[in-house]
Amino acid sequence: MTDTEDQDTINVSVDVLIIGGGIAGLWALARLQQAGYKTVLLESKALGAGQTRYAQGIIHGGTKYALTGKLTASSEAVADMPSRWRACYEGNGELDLTRAELLSDAHYLWSTTSLTSRISGFFASKVMRARSSELDKKSLPAIFQNKDFKGQFYRLDEPVFNTLSVIRALAEPQLKSILPVNSLSIKPEGQRLTVASQSGESYCFTYSKVIFMAGQGNEELLQRFHLAEPLMQRRPLKMVVMRDKNLNDMIYAHCLGASVNPRLTITSHRDKQGNIVWYMGGQLAEEGVAKSDSELVQAAQKELANLIPWLELKDAEWGVLDIDRAEIRKQGTTRPDSFSVAQNQHVITAWPTKMALSPVLADTVVAMLEDEGVTKSTDASLPEWQVAEFAGFPWDESICWDRGKIS
Ligand SMILES: Cc1cc2nc3c(=O)[nH]c(=O)nc-3n(C[C@H](O)[C@H](O)[C@H](O)COP(=O)(O)OP(=O)(O)OC[C@H]3O[C@@H](n4cnc5c(N)ncnc54)[C@H](O)[C@@H]3O)c2cc1C
Repeated sequence: MTDTEDQDTINVSVDVLIIGGGIAGLWALARLQQAGYKTVLLESKALGAGQTRYAQGIIHGGTKYALTGKLTASSEAVADMPSRWRACYEGNGELDLTRAELLSDAHYLWSTTSLTSRISGFFASKVMRARSSELDKKSLPAIFQNKDFKGQFYRLDEPVFNTLSVIRALAEPQLKSILPVNSLSIKPEGQRLTVASQSGESYCFTYSKVIFMAGQGNEELLQRFHLAEPLMQRRPLKMVVMRDKNLNDMIYAHCLGASVNPRLTITSHRDKQGNIVWYMGGQLAEEGVAKSDSELVQAAQKELANLIPWLELKDAEWGVLDIDRAEIRKQGTTRPDSFSVAQNQHVITAWPTKMALSPVLADTVVAMLEDEGVTKSTDASLPEWQVAEFAGFPWDESICWDRGKIS
């Protein structure tokens, strides 16, 4: 039911209000609507504008957890994620991702000769054998078919998506339920929240549950709602981007190093001009936090020269992206094993930890509401409001391409 109480504030009654239009909020919005809950999502910047547009888009199936020795019962949930995402992409899953862009059907893992025995030992595990397969030379991605490549190469059952195309595929059918807001105007009072939209109207939402899925923004929302818990942690990364108009290869691969984290993780994307952009993370980005931009770019150049010495980069441009991962706080600021969700009366606070885990996070939220018997409105009507915008990729918008220039 919607009505206008006075000239300034439009009252809207919903079952669930989600705050945050990243992958977690949009996946949950679609699932809650599907389950029959009248749900509105509030976004303060643009859809996908938080961590999601920085994600490499790999739908992990547990390899990363296995690499770090954390293949526990809870992270076993990750094993189903590639098939769930793939089913959505193929049009027979829980949500419709047929319009999203699949960048690669698989992610790869390679080792250099010096680490061959280590990788063999690792893959001797039964669990990993089920999720990966060693490739012979002619099945390798073109760039690794070079005569000088001597390491081992595995195919992991981990699709890679264009993250912003996923955001569009999820949001476009739901745009009428998404309100662009000014985050500073959010004022909670009991189970009501007033907020100013980006076009200046004032709305007062009455809800049964509010779900914070605002990534880093959860910290400020918790304060605004006077909630002391859950606590949030930020784990910084410094990612490296490289583009070269002569680059022809798209790589989606982790290079296994001496530590449990991948030494280097490369995914490939296209910028607005159609150039291939290599996006580099892994240990390089973890250690990059302690480096200056130019030191980090030099380290990336050295890694590529060591790992893919036959790669010719004639006109490469380099950039650095600083981004924090926002997660529930863990002792020692270690990575949580899985997604996290905490309830405090009418407020649910959630972080997916990995975009791959958004489906299982949404399952959990729907189950919480069902268990609690949150009622489902029969009146689905909403006022018409301004349509939310979509974020762009950082390499098209917020990057200075010569930030890592060596002076
Ligand atoms: C460099 C990097 C690479 C990654 N690669 C991968 C990967 O390959 N695979 C993988 O599974 N995961 C990956 N991740 C993790 C993944 O990006 C995150 O787990 C996921 O994107 C978090 O999504 P989210 O929706 O919770 O948060 P976000 O994407 O941060 O979205 C939160 C949204 O809330 C909005 N917001 C904030 N405050 C407010 C407010 N007060 N009111 C309204 N809106 C608000 C923000 O504008 C934003 O749009 C990566 C992360 C990083 C940093």
